[in-house]
Amino acid sequence: MDIYGRIGKVMADLPAIGKDSVNKQQGWVFRGIDTIVNYVSPLFVKHGVFMVPQVLESTREERQTKNGGNMIYTRLKVKYLFYATSDGSSIEAIVDGEGMDSGDKSTNKALAVAMKYALFQVLCIPTEEMEQKERLIDPDETSPEESYPVDMAGNRIYRCCDCGRDLTPITGKDGKEISVMDQLELGRKYAGGRIVCPECLKKNTRKSA
Ligand SMILES: [Zn+2]
Repeated sequence: MDIYGRIGKVMADLPAIGKDSVNKQQGWVFRGIDTIVNYVSPLFVKHGVFMVPQVLESTREERQTKNGGNMIYTRLKVKYLFYATSDGSSIEAIVDGEGMDSGDKSTNKALAVAMKYALFQVLCIPTEEMEQKERLIDPDETSPEESYPVDMAGNRIYRCCDCGRDLTPITGKDGKEISVMDQLELGRKYAGGRIVCPECLKKNTRKSA
């Protein structure tokens, strides 16, 4: 079987996300890169698929944070080739990944993000029901069993429920940094406890005003 048939088999084996039994049994939330890889990898093995990344472009930028520290931003354009082990037929997906880190992990993070979205988009991994569930999670309420997406450094990732972007610290109009925690607090106050990025929050409040 060529790569087209094999990718189809992998997709057919993807679970119906949002069915609690599947979710509990697997113990993951279908968002973080590690959990996605943990789940997709056995299906690739089973159906004879492997993927090879090729970084096509890389840009790095160093920016100063408000606290005087350095942040390194890395943006990668990555081509992922998905091969069939049987005949070497392949398909490719080119995606961008962006990562920021104060140390040496911005490239790792950018690669992780690129891989995650390549898998998401090639395999059409369904997420809607999980997103709705995430909306109800109170960021202050963390039970030990709960799994949530984390970045390469193990920090929890909060994702905007409206546009799907990861929340990152931003600089407000007054030049003060609005941290991710501040943004969660704003979401609690003005968006009914949902996780939303400042831009979407602005749109939301404008709409209801
Ligand atoms: Zn948003």
